Amino acid sequence: KINNKDDVIKAIETHNVKFIRLQFTDIQGIVKDVEIPVTQIEKALSTGISFDGSSIEGMVRIDESDMVLRPDTKTFAILPWGKNKGVVARMICDVYLPDGKEFEADPRYVLKKVMKEAHEMGYEFNVGPELEFFLFAKEDGKATTTPNDYGRYFEFAPTDLAEDIRRDIVLTLTDLNFDIEASHHEVAFGQHEIDFKYGDALSTADNVVTFRYVTRTIAKTYGLHATFMPKPIATENGSGMHINLSLSKDGKNAFYDPEDDMEISDTARYFIAGVLEHIKAISCIANPLVNSYKRLIPGYEAPVYITWSGANRSSLIRIPSARGNSTRTELRSPDPSCNPYLTFAAILAAGLDGIKNRKEPPQIMDQNVFDLTPEELKERSIEILPSTINESCNYLEKDELMREKLGAHVHNNILRLARAEWDAYRTQVHEWEVSRYLNTF
Ligand code: ADP
Ligand code: MG
Ligand code: MG
Ligand code: MG
Ligand code: MG
Repeated sequence: KINNKDDVIKAIETHNVKFIRLQFTDIQGIVKDVEIPVTQIEKALSTGISFDGSSIEGMVRIDESDMVLRPDTKTFAILPWGKNKGVVARMICDVYLPDGKEFEADPRYVLKKVMKEAHEMGYEFNVGPELEFFLFAKEDGKATTTPNDYGRYFEFAPTDLAEDIRRDIVLTLTDLNFDIEASHHEVAFGQHEIDFKYGDALSTADNVVTFRYVTRTIAKTYGLHATFMPKPIATENGSGMHINLSLSKDGKNAFYDPEDDMEISDTARYFIAGVLEHIKAISCIANPLVNSYKRLIPGYEAPVYITWSGANRSSLIRIPSARGNSTRTELRSPDPSCNPYLTFAAILAAGLDGIKNRKEPPQIMDQNVFDLTPEELKERSIEILPSTINESCNYLEKDELMREKLGAHVHNNILRLARAEWDAYRTQVHEWEVSRYLNTF
């Protein structure tokens, strides 16, 4: 277990590490990486390594661009590939300003700030994300949307052609200190899920980022393309990233209450209420792409209505049946294209606000919400998730809590990027429109 500078230096010697990749993410959660030869490690650990922040999406500041990367020694890990030119390790970094202050738009910093607020209230935030992804064939070196196999949920050989690839991903992640719980074929052709054990929000967000590049890298060695795009095929389920959430207090699960009829605590109810209240704004972060909203439609196991339920999977938030230490809520709308740091930060901020203000959630939905008629939905005042990224932007813009907790810099930049994306999309003429209208009108 590596905790500090000395541990890192020792590990570098033991494993004969030659290169170190220093990583952080931009506002979209995309990994940025600079490699240093091992000779620079002292400098990296003591003063940090400088880079030009103005070239990184969402980091631009008007008056300064010299930023500093400071490795978080706890994230040191030996990368399992690229050994032919010497052993390569990676460390995930925090971003600082030249004057030594933390940079307020570093996604890691934003998450740490909200986690600190939770900590001050006596809570630790536990997160268990379930990432789904597709494996597609390549043609002439280019990714296609042809699934690698025609397996379905939990399918097994010979229809599941990805057993070895999934195992390879699992072994690689295990080398990178993941605690893998299960892996299986998902519902869509060519779709898979690998689950790892929940943990504190910061290491889990680091893990999501690592998970995505490990999966893509391993798939590549099999000549396949792995993608976390939310909805690559219109007629198949999209890929979600359900997020299992719980708080603990004094080492105990704070969502569990054996005396309650549902065996969940008031804290859990307040947390749920806070998340439901802000979910339309959070969607702009948890469902950040134009394509994210093609997943959030009826008929494909993705949520549409803003409801919560017991074990029923049609609701936006469900309470999986496990109790005791595993008591948790599962938020089902996020997708794996999101920035996990900002997504966890936004959810936690909303949940804590629910707790502080003792918000009561709406009435629990005890049936399949997709079976309700439009009249019943109206009668029960059931609201709908935003149906485009543009709509999400309008909710995020108005959400003062999100502006405060994410910081104005991140808030503004998310809106700027998402609106640019929407404009790029809406100014296209799509094939669907041409085939639909060209002859009729
Ligand atoms: P599903 O039944 O929705 O497919 P999975 O078994 O795939 O659920 O994933 C459940 C996730 O919940 C795992 O990542 C697991 O570690 C996580 N989890 C379990 N207990 C807790 C908890 N108390 N807090 C947060 N996450 C938890
Ligand atoms: Mg699952
Ligand atoms: Mg499972
Ligand atoms: Mg799944
Ligand atoms: Mg799930």
